[in-house]
Amino acid sequence: MKKIFLTSSLALLFLTSCLLFAPKAESTPEPIPPTAPPPTQSPSDRSIYKDGLVPEYQGILNELPYASIYDIKFNISDDMYHITGSETVIYTNAEDVELKEVKFRLFPNILGGDMHVDEVFVNEEVIIPNYTLNDSLLTVPLKNPIQPGESVTLKMNFKITVPQSVELNYGVQAYYDNVLALAHAYPMIPAYDDEGWNAEIPPQSGDVTYADMSFFIITVEAPKDVVLVGSGREISHKDTGSRQTVRYEAGPVRDFYLAASSDYEVVSKEVNGITIRFYYLNNSQEGAESALDVAARSMEVYGKRYVPYPYSELDFVSTPTLALGIEYPGMIAITNWIVQPDNSYLEATIAHEVGHQWFYNLVGNDQLDDPWLDESLTQFATLQYFTDEYGQSGNDSYRLDMEDRWNSIGREEIPVGLPVRAYTDVEYSGIVYGRGGLFFEALREEMGSDNFDAFLKEYVKINSWGVATPEKLQVQAEKNCACDLTPLFEKWIFP
Ligand SMILES: [Zn+2]
Repeated sequence: MKKIFLTSSLALLFLTSCLLFAPKAESTPEPIPPTAPPPTQSPSDRSIYKDGLVPEYQGILNELPYASIYDIKFNISDDMYHITGSETVIYTNAEDVELKEVKFRLFPNILGGDMHVDEVFVNEEVIIPNYTLNDSLLTVPLKNPIQPGESVTLKMNFKITVPQSVELNYGVQAYYDNVLALAHAYPMIPAYDDEGWNAEIPPQSGDVTYADMSFFIITVEAPKDVVLVGSGREISHKDTGSRQTVRYEAGPVRDFYLAASSDYEVVSKEVNGITIRFYYLNNSQEGAESALDVAARSMEVYGKRYVPYPYSELDFVSTPTLALGIEYPGMIAITNWIVQPDNSYLEATIAHEVGHQWFYNLVGNDQLDDPWLDESLTQFATLQYFTDEYGQSGNDSYRLDMEDRWNSIGREEIPVGLPVRAYTDVEYSGIVYGRGGLFFEALREEMGSDNFDAFLKEYVKINSWGVATPEKLQVQAEKNCACDLTPLFEKWIFP
């Protein structure tokens, strides 16, 4: 995500003062098995995902044996903000301990909306789950714990009420100005790591998810007149009366995002066999075209410097979000008002959000505990884009943007490596988006450019599809420079 001060503090003001929930749906007296169609994917057959990946990445389909397999149906009502759905997920225990429960995040309950799940079917047996973290964490106790390598099938129905305001959550989940933005709007299994099930109430200034690579088949039923845009690749489309049914495949990805509006128009472009599209609003075709141009050039820069972009598509959507842009796997939301060819935020926002396809999606991280691994590194990637495109003047101008952020908090030497919750809103911008980006310049100076370039390429390659940690980053850098970087990391990163 990329924010500017004005919008983020505004959003914060509203977030703290008017977070409210719609009333809960009545619970169903008799367990009704989810109405989801039986899973259409066999866990061992991933051929449906092949065309969503560029050829050099298709081999990943033979790997990731533990990735969760989601089959989700969203039914979007004619009013566009009431949604019912069902989910079947095959979860495999990738840990070396038995798991006595499986957890799901219900993000609408902490993003200003409402999400309700009645009961969960575990291998066809009904289980009443319990709720914690302001109803944003649903825990399913298992009668038979799942052993390492074993799988369990969980099914549930859900109901969502989407807020009709962008002030509650930057508009990541909102139906506003005739645009439906639907982020993290399904029961999502959080990452399990050395902390166990890794879930907390996300601080309001950062991104909210931390999840592993998964495979998704998504069926969306919605009014026929809206243009639907989802992560991954559309695999079928059928119109019935006033409604339409669209299916998507997406995987391996860390999340599924959907946007919808009857106002969307689209421009597209091909880059090295990848289709990039921009769904824009209000006649902003020219802005959308310049955005696609920046997207294409930044994908080339990152592809050359790190590793190629993995998917066969990348979709941009204009939304009324209060952030400048928000990243999702294979999709990017850009706030509508900057989609103008002469807008001074457009190029940096596009280059930044495209950078997240490498640092957040391809290389995952705990976005709440280690936000610098995605945000600071993406700021640095953006600096590399401006440098490679415009030489020294490009480097100077983007460097100044990061300097300005750090200057705004008096260049305080607050560590870059703190969790989001440890920063105030302005510190988060000044340190994670400012000082953190500058750290990577200091690191390059310390290591030497050739070692540094080799390190960053290797770091991305080794951690692709997995989850990186600060320790992995430091170890890789030290390997490439054959030097001790502890003093530098202690000066900049670690408390
Ligand atoms: Zn960002």
